[in-house]
Amino acid sequence: RPVSTADRPEERVRVFLRVRPSKAEGETPGALRLKAGGGGVVVYREHASIPCSDFEFDGVLGPGASQSDVYHAAVKPIVEDVLNGYNGTLMAYGQTGAGKTYTLSSIAADAIGMIPRVAAEIFSHVEGDSAHEYSVYMSYVQLYMELIQDLLRPESESLQIRENEGGVFVGGVHQQEVSNITQCLHLLHLGDRNRTTAFTALNAHSSRSHAVVMLTVIKRRSVGAVDGDAEIQRVKVGKLFLVDLAGSERLKKSKSTGLRASEAKSINLSLTTLGMCINARADPNATHVPFRDSKLTRLLQDSLGGNAKTSLLVAACDAQEHVEETLQTLQFGARAM
Ligand code: ADP
Ligand code: MG
Repeated sequence: RPVSTADRPEERVRVFLRVRPSKAEGETPGALRLKAGGGGVVVYREHASIPCSDFEFDGVLGPGASQSDVYHAAVKPIVEDVLNGYNGTLMAYGQTGAGKTYTLSSIAADAIGMIPRVAAEIFSHVEGDSAHEYSVYMSYVQLYMELIQDLLRPESESLQIRENEGGVFVGGVHQQEVSNITQCLHLLHLGDRNRTTAFTALNAHSSRSHAVVMLTVIKRRSVGAVDGDAEIQRVKVGKLFLVDLAGSERLKKSKSTGLRASEAKSINLSLTTLGMCINARADPNATHVPFRDSKLTRLLQDSLGGNAKTSLLVAACDAQEHVEETLQTLQFGARAM
């Protein structure tokens, strides 16, 4: 059984705001002003003239922040934990176009995203630690309309969440053993391609599904290591979820009919439930955590509660045109703290 939740205190969710630079065309900057000191932001409405709300987060990464800044602030501590047998989650929340996928998955040479950075850090640690043997497995699924689809095995039926004494898992999901960053990038690329081709008939746009990369790190004492310690036979399993959430924007009521309306309902259900589960964790008096109300929260259950480290990256932009959505995004982040 993986390291239990009993052996260290609960952690709260850490929340980071990332503000992407405004686009040259069609966007007027000025909706957000960062406070000095790094953790606060003020939202300006009415052509950026009226300050309407202010928020404090664990960190604010402004338009000038690099991917490396984001990694060191929000992600590195989670990876260190996963290498020691704890679970962890990194989620990106925000409206479509706010920078979630760029932050998590960019492979541009000057802007490598969090997922490739996580993989690189895991393999570099594995190479540097001769006292242990590691196995690393990667899965990649999407959650669309409460169905779990295997992006590495698009031909398979949608998958079910199961639970045993080891915790919650996706029954039958393809788990590919990976031993270097090139293999990880290949699987990411394959999954993304399947996401836009194999599932197109059902799901025209990736912003309407959640994409979830799962990395499982199994750590054993190297054979032949001399150590009288009880630690010797202890196998540690750390699971890391990297989640590119569906766009959080609300559909205009008049446009919501048929499939679009069902998608919107399903996204709304899962994001609302996610918010409730995170908030329950922040509230010491909460008795019921509604993990079972959506597939997303059920899947993340073991990595969202207890002593798993979780970072929520809320992605927003500085454009006045998007200030209402930005406000909603910041409120979601603030409630999670
Ligand atoms: P989302 O996944 O939230 O819908 P994307 O990650 O696709 O948004 O970002 C939308 C656009 O903005 C993309 O063209 C992306 O390259 C660009 N972008 C996002 N964040 C940044 C950033 N921090 N710096 C530069 N460009 C960014
Ligand atoms: Mg995206």
